Amino acid sequence: MTSQSILDDKPKDECGVFGVYGPGLDVARLTYFGLHALQHRGQESAGIAVSGPEGMRIRKRLGLVQTVFDESDLRHLRGDLAVGHTRYSTTGSTLPENAGPMSAESSVGTIVVAHNGNIVNAVQLRQELETEGARFATSTDTEVLTQLIARSPGATIVEKLQAAMPRCVGAFSLCILTAGEIVGVRDLKGIRPLVIGDLDGGAVIASESCALSTIGADIVREVEPGEIVVANDAGITSHRLAGAAGTASCLFEYIYFARPDSLMSGRRVYLTRQRMGEELAREAPAEADVVIPVPDSAIPAAIGYARESGIQFSEGLIKNRYIGRTFIQPDQKLREVGVRLKFSALPEIIGGKRVVLVDDTIVRATTSSLIVDLLRSAGAREVHMRIHAPPIQHPCYLGVDMASRDELIAASKTVEEIQEEIGADSLRYLSLDGLFRSIGSPENGFCTGCLTGRYPVDVGEATGKFGIEANDRSHNGNGVARDRQVILESPGAFRSLAGAGRTEAGG
Ligand code: SF4
Repeated sequence: MTSQSILDDKPKDECGVFGVYGPGLDVARLTYFGLHALQHRGQESAGIAVSGPEGMRIRKRLGLVQTVFDESDLRHLRGDLAVGHTRYSTTGSTLPENAGPMSAESSVGTIVVAHNGNIVNAVQLRQELETEGARFATSTDTEVLTQLIARSPGATIVEKLQAAMPRCVGAFSLCILTAGEIVGVRDLKGIRPLVIGDLDGGAVIASESCALSTIGADIVREVEPGEIVVANDAGITSHRLAGAAGTASCLFEYIYFARPDSLMSGRRVYLTRQRMGEELAREAPAEADVVIPVPDSAIPAAIGYARESGIQFSEGLIKNRYIGRTFIQPDQKLREVGVRLKFSALPEIIGGKRVVLVDDTIVRATTSSLIVDLLRSAGAREVHMRIHAPPIQHPCYLGVDMASRDELIAASKTVEEIQEEIGADSLRYLSLDGLFRSIGSPENGFCTGCLTGRYPVDVGEATGKFGIEANDRSHNGNGVARDRQVILESPGAFRSLAGAGRTEAGG
C-alpha cells in the first residue's frame, strides 16, 4: 500500500475512448464534451487527435479534461474526424509521455490509437517488436499495440488489425484515427465496453453510452466482441477479427465503473445497481433503523436495499466531491482527519440508530474501517455493512487497477475476519448468483476473474502494472525514453506528427 491513498481504496477505472466521424461538425469540441462524459474512466491524462484537410493534430497532457484543453486548443484542433482518450494507468506510470492517444507511422499513413483495456502479453510483444527494430518512447501497452498495428502487414487498416490483434492477449476496446476514417475495435471476448452512435449522419464511437447522450448522438448498437467497425465517407462497415468466441463482459462495469446513466447491453446501469441492493436485502437482511450509502457510487444499491427491506433510506454520509487523492497518513489521528476530509456523518440522521451501510466493494478495507469509526463517533448504535458485490479475491489483469493479491483483504481473510478488521457489527456480501439475478443474465456472458479466479483469457504472462518499466530497466538499463516529455510539456506548441501538416501538441 505504499503509494495508495487511504481514501482511494477502490478499483480504478481503466480508460475512456471516444471517436467521431463528422465532416462539417466541430469534431474537437464534440470529442472534448465526450471526454468530459467519460472523465470517471480516467483522471490522469487526456488527449484529442483530429484529422482534416490541414493534416493530423494531437494534443495531450496530464490532467483532467477541463485543465488539458482550452478554447484556443479546440480552435486549433480543426478536422473532420477525431479520437480522444482519458487515462487511468493500468500499465505504466503516470508520466506525461504515457498520456494517450498514441500515434505511429504505417504503410497506410499515420494512425492514432486510443485504448481502454490491458494487453497481458505486452512485455513479450514489445521485446518481439524491438527485435524487429521498433523503438519505444513510453512504458504503456497502448504504444506496444499501436506499433504492432502499424508494423503489421496489410493494405488497409482493417487488414492490419486482422493481422495484429490476434497476437494480443487481454482486453482492448480501441478507437483508431487514420487520415480518413475512425475505427472501433473490441477484443474477442468484449471484455471492455464500446458502443456506436449516430450524430446527424456522422458516426460516434465511445466507451459508454453516456458520452453519446452528452453530445446528442443516438445509440445505434454496441460493437460486438471481435468486431472491427469502420466509419468513413462510404458509411459504416463491419469486419471481423479471427477467433471470436463468446462474450465475457467485465462485471465491474455494472457494479462500479460505468456511469449510472449508461446503458450496458440494453440495461440501465442505475437500475441494475438498484436491483443489486434489492437482492442484497433479500440475501442479507438486517435489523436496522436506517439504510445509508457510501456516496456516491453506492446510492442506487442503498435505495434498492431500503425499498426491498422497508427500512428508511437516508443520506447519513456527505461526500466532499472536490477531494482528489490524499496520500497515506503516518498515524491513526491523521488518517481520521483524512477520512473526515472526504466524508462527514450527520448525527441527526444516524445518532442512536442501527445503521445499514451499503457500499460497492471492499478492496483493502482501509477506508471501510475509517467510515465505520466515523459513523460510530456520530452516534450510530450499530453498523451493519452490506456490499453489493461478492468479495474481490483475485487481481484484475484485464484493464482495472485493483491492487495486488497480497493487498486484497478478501484474498487472505474470511468475511468474519474482515468484519472484525473494519469494526462492523455485521458484514455480508452479495452472492455471485444474486449479482447475476440483478443483472438479469446468466454467468456465461461475463468475466468473473477477480471474484472467482477464472479469467476469460490466459493471464499467465501478466507482468503487472509496471511490467514494461521493470523489464525495460532490466533489459536496456536505461528506462523509457524521456524526450517526449519535453514535447508534451511545451506550452501551446503543436508538433508535427510525421507527414506534412500533422501536428502534436502538449502541455
Ligand atoms: S477481472 Fe474483474 S475487474 Fe477485471 S475484467 Fe474481469 S470482472 Fe472486470
